[in-house]
Amino acid sequence: MFNKKNTIVIHWLQVVFFLNCGIGLSQTTPEVSPLSGEKAYAHVQRLVSFGPRPPASPGIKKSQAYLTKTLKNLHLDVEHQNFLALTPNGNIPMKNIIARAKKGITNDVIILASHYDTLPMESGVFLGANDGGSSSGLLLELARVLSKQQWNFSFWFVFFDGEEAQKIWSSTDSLYGSRYFVERLKSRRQVSLIKAMILTDMVGDKNLILERDRSSTTWLMDLVWDSAMELGYSNHLAVAPKTIIDDHIPFLKAGIPSVNLIDYEFGKNNRYWHTPQDTIDKISVKSLLIVGEIIIRTIEKIATKN
Ligand SMILES: [Zn+2]
Repeated sequence: MFNKKNTIVIHWLQVVFFLNCGIGLSQTTPEVSPLSGEKAYAHVQRLVSFGPRPPASPGIKKSQAYLTKTLKNLHLDVEHQNFLALTPNGNIPMKNIIARAKKGITNDVIILASHYDTLPMESGVFLGANDGGSSSGLLLELARVLSKQQWNFSFWFVFFDGEEAQKIWSSTDSLYGSRYFVERLKSRRQVSLIKAMILTDMVGDKNLILERDRSSTTWLMDLVWDSAMELGYSNHLAVAPKTIIDDHIPFLKAGIPSVNLIDYEFGKNNRYWHTPQDTIDKISVKSLLIVGEIIIRTIEKIATKN
């Protein structure tokens, strides 16, 4: 039963609580420098410096060590999800890298994802600065910024292995990492935790035009579009829609709202795509920053939506 005296006590406790919250926030959320296109670009440069990164190659092993070290330096929980992929080139060991930020206020999770492997190429050196590199560099930078902020959900930063076909693209020869990841989500009964999955792929092109992907969940694609418009980036949005098959597909099949931010025209008539021309000189600091800003704005919209 409440009397006036108790009410005063409660008010006093509330004041103490708010004061503590204020102090707590300033201690747990130190000033984080804003998202940096330069920092994202530097990560892309490092990944490219390791050489081609097809599954189980020396280059991808160096990339795995770099991703792990960078994510651990951010004090994230890093999981190596190892699996053996059945491919037309035989069984290949692959590794998804998952970095989890400290828990949000609820159990809800938002996944930000990118593939970090590169297309195996028999003749010619394929470095995948844009295809595999750009989105992974940006994801590391997003992890730095987002993991230090307080949100009402947790972030999982997921780096997929084996997105690329090992021989010829098909539903069974592609998306090895994301398919395995979703199977594990199901077996761990974690599908319902995931409120949204935001995928990035090929986001470093100087002439950045993001696709209006028909496969993506419409309400999420709308949030991406609204975010880009609000930020003044409507000139980076494609006019005609396309249907994109990428690492978001296994998530969509599992019923998880998912969206892909991808620029699927790399160079005039896509002439740099899956060629040795996919090199660091084609990558733009500004494009990385633009996509990162659109993603953060989209996440803010998801946060206020619920
Ligand atoms: Zn590719």
